[in-house]
Amino acid sequence: MKAVGWSLENSFGALPDLLFTPLAPTPVTRPTLVALNAPLAKDLGLDFSTLSEQEQAELFTGNRLPEGAQPLAQAYAGHQFGHFTMLGDGRAIVLGEQTTPSGARVDIQFKGSGRTPYSRNGDGRAALGPMLREYIISEAMAALGIPTTRSLAVAATGEWVYRETPEPGAILTRVAASHLRVGTFQYVAMRQDLSALAKLTQYALARHYPERLGDANPALSLLEAVIERQLALIVEWMRVGFIHGVMNTDNMAISGETIDYGPCAFMDAYHRETVFSSIDHAGRYAYGNQPTIAKWNLARLAEALLPLMDAEQNRAVALAEAAISDFVPRYNALWLRMMGDKFGLEGEEEGDAALIRELLDWMQDEGADFTRTFHGLRDGLPLDGELGQALSLTGWRQRWLARLQRNAGGLAAGQAVMARVNPVVIPRNHRVEEALEAASKEGDLGPMQALLAALAQPYAEGPELARYQESPKPDERVYQTFC
Ligand code: AMP
Ligand code: MG
Ligand code: MG
Repeated sequence: MKAVGWSLENSFGALPDLLFTPLAPTPVTRPTLVALNAPLAKDLGLDFSTLSEQEQAELFTGNRLPEGAQPLAQAYAGHQFGHFTMLGDGRAIVLGEQTTPSGARVDIQFKGSGRTPYSRNGDGRAALGPMLREYIISEAMAALGIPTTRSLAVAATGEWVYRETPEPGAILTRVAASHLRVGTFQYVAMRQDLSALAKLTQYALARHYPERLGDANPALSLLEAVIERQLALIVEWMRVGFIHGVMNTDNMAISGETIDYGPCAFMDAYHRETVFSSIDHAGRYAYGNQPTIAKWNLARLAEALLPLMDAEQNRAVALAEAAISDFVPRYNALWLRMMGDKFGLEGEEEGDAALIRELLDWMQDEGADFTRTFHGLRDGLPLDGELGQALSLTGWRQRWLARLQRNAGGLAAGQAVMARVNPVVIPRNHRVEEALEAASKEGDLGPMQALLAALAQPYAEGPELARYQESPKPDERVYQTFC
């Protein structure tokens, strides 16, 4: 194959054997390229324009491996809805790590590339709809400025996969800071291989937190670093109304990126108990539960790391508990700052939290659209229309405007920050479903391309965006999402 700029290495493959199985993707029958992310390719130092479309399709299905690839499937474990299971890449293969022109090392991974020793009862394959769904939502998250894995390409396999109905098969090429998960540590801890656990810890620090490499207690330092990144990440999800949907410990990345887009969704109407995932019957992963679940998952990481933290178990437990104990107050402080920005409040005043809560409670009671309400606050000074009227009635609007006047930079400063943090366009479920339907059932990629273009600039205004800003009409509403 002609040079496209691959610089693949596989540092993960130098870790102890129990962490992976060397394995190539299973070839597919009739590869075709469905989507290719040209701007991301450029950021990775890759140029696929020298390849024919057929060569691109062969590449992104794994029929022809890129130069330097040393493919492997990773082992991991995880708490799925609270229950511990030994897992692993059941339908994914990491090809290697690409070093980008800016010096970052990122995993290149295929998802849907065939069975592995970790497939259990699965077919190792993925359907086109869900892979395009991950492509759309992960790219939307990146454009929103939220840490996330990225999507480089989707290629169809020309084979059917059998879910509720036969669906076209596809492979997603995912780009990630790494695929280390909380569950990777749980896996090694469960195998009781202390030497491997120590090596994995050093590896995670070197890859994601090199500034902490010399720390006296590496396991504790890693735990603290992951807590910090996850705090920042969850607050960002809350900012835009993102509901991950499957926050199992195997879907929480050590890097602090959002990973594994299954039945995730963006909330339309604001409600803290919102759940879309068809498999989340108890609402464990509801919008408002995400901080609590993140803390729970981090406690599982702490447990896995305990044997490295101190030879004396009581001392190790005390160290881990100290690291996690202030998760809630730290989260609350970050949440308040984030919400302060959404409302345009500079600095912090005594009454801010109550002012914020009052509007959120009003939104929850009214079923107000989360994104549109903040868009209204951002652009509607003074607020017009129904929202303005309703908020005038309660006196909330007057109190909020008075608070904005007390900003050091006045109203203008508030508006500037609101425009930076309140998106205008999010991947609304009904628009995503519409695009997937067209792509998957009719082979029409037009709606998806148009949606991706709108999502690429989520904070920008424009008349052409109206269609992507509207809340779903009653008959357009999506109640459930599937993995
Ligand atoms: P997820 O819910 O997507 O995070 O997946 C949980 C586990 O199931 C992971 O170990 C996946 O690799 C595995 N898995 C999901 N779908 C399949 C499939 N079609 N074939 C094999 N393994 C799968
Ligand atoms: Mg997963
Ligand atoms: Mg998944």
